[in-house]
Amino acid sequence: EYYLDNIAQRNAELNVFLEVWADEARQQAAAVDEKLALGTAGRLAGMVIGLKDVLAYQGHSLQSSSRILDGFKSLFTGTAVQRLLAEDAIFIGRQNCDEFAMGGSNENSAFGPVRNAQDPSRVPGGSSGGSAVAVQADMCLASIGSDTGGSVRQPAAFCGVIGLKPTYSRISRYGLVAFASSFDQIGPITHSVEDAARLLEVMAGADGMDSTASQQAVPAYSALLEPLPHYRIGYLKEAIDRPGLQPEVHDALQDTLDSLRSQGHLVEAVDFPYLDEMIPTYYILTTAEASSNLSRFDGVKYGYRAPDATDLESLYKKTRAQGFGPEVQRRIMLGTFVLSASYYDAYYTKAQRVRRLIKEKTDELLRQYDFLVLPTTPTTAFKIGEKQDPVSMYLADIFTVQASLSGVPAISIPAGQDAQGLPIGLQIMSGAFREADLLAFANELM
Ligand code: GLN
Repeated sequence: EYYLDNIAQRNAELNVFLEVWADEARQQAAAVDEKLALGTAGRLAGMVIGLKDVLAYQGHSLQSSSRILDGFKSLFTGTAVQRLLAEDAIFIGRQNCDEFAMGGSNENSAFGPVRNAQDPSRVPGGSSGGSAVAVQADMCLASIGSDTGGSVRQPAAFCGVIGLKPTYSRISRYGLVAFASSFDQIGPITHSVEDAARLLEVMAGADGMDSTASQQAVPAYSALLEPLPHYRIGYLKEAIDRPGLQPEVHDALQDTLDSLRSQGHLVEAVDFPYLDEMIPTYYILTTAEASSNLSRFDGVKYGYRAPDATDLESLYKKTRAQGFGPEVQRRIMLGTFVLSASYYDAYYTKAQRVRRLIKEKTDELLRQYDFLVLPTTPTTAFKIGEKQDPVSMYLADIFTVQASLSGVPAISIPAGQDAQGLPIGLQIMSGAFREADLLAFANELM
């Protein structure tokens, strides 16, 4: 009732929930109360959770904040969502996001922008903007988002909460609407590291429905390891000295590094030669994968169908022209271009090779160092409508795409605020499948 009240008070203004499952949530809560009385409740009993509109939940609308999925209801429940339910999580509603998770400001939703609860003239970040604001404004305890190139971490940073992108393959993608399949990961947005650990522990693990899901055993993340007294910590020199980095973001990072050093950790600057290659590589590969994944939305199988089609070709063209918003269309065109016969080697193949260089260098650094620490974003939350140029929006992903290109886990935690009181995020990356260490260290820094 507490969360439902908060939703009632602010949802119209902030545009966070596309749908609130009030009655269902109350029924789930009553059932959990009974189980608690009997001592049979699951590990998430009492956790009230919101779901980003990219997660399949049987019988519930699923739209990826796109017109092209108008009227679509999910026929099945995805693995991560199923595991949360099985541990007695209570689902409170479906959260607004950038259309097909493409964006960094939540301005690309067919349902209109989400607003940052701290300053509603500003963006919450994206694409999991609704999910981050829901936690920021206490409309639920935690949210489940998805992160392809920063979509959990960046909105968490803009909203002053925690966002975790696990290792690629740690959580099954079955039931997650595909954007770029070799990047997509489900991740929690929470107030505490402990809650992030608890949700990861429940969602992670092998899954017969997703052959890419890792078979590695799932550690007891929620037990939160004791942090070690001496970590080896690297930071990217090129990142901290980067022009365009907001001075307060620089200072927050510098302060953290200084205090870690004074606590006895080894803190060293490292060279990472590929910073400028990361955004082009990310946008070539993700648009290529997206153009392929989104070809299924043809007006026949799902959701929206153009009413004025005259034959099959016009059905495809009109449905897709009317159903997809401008950013999604831009990416489909870019992805189709880089995959076309005459350009495939020049763009797609080359980007695959650069991705491999980035991954190898990142993995090497994460063998030398326990963690890499960097900003989550170059600036704090910007104004709605401020970034009109898509390239300037893409460039703001500079610090989050490294973990996505490399498949390693990364977490964004709050690290103070700027002169206007807007939250600053600090990002920590670790080697693949080292979430237990990452969470222990992040918890220590909170
Ligand atoms: N901002 C990035 C993009 O638009 C990240 C999106 C995401 O992680 N889903 O691609």
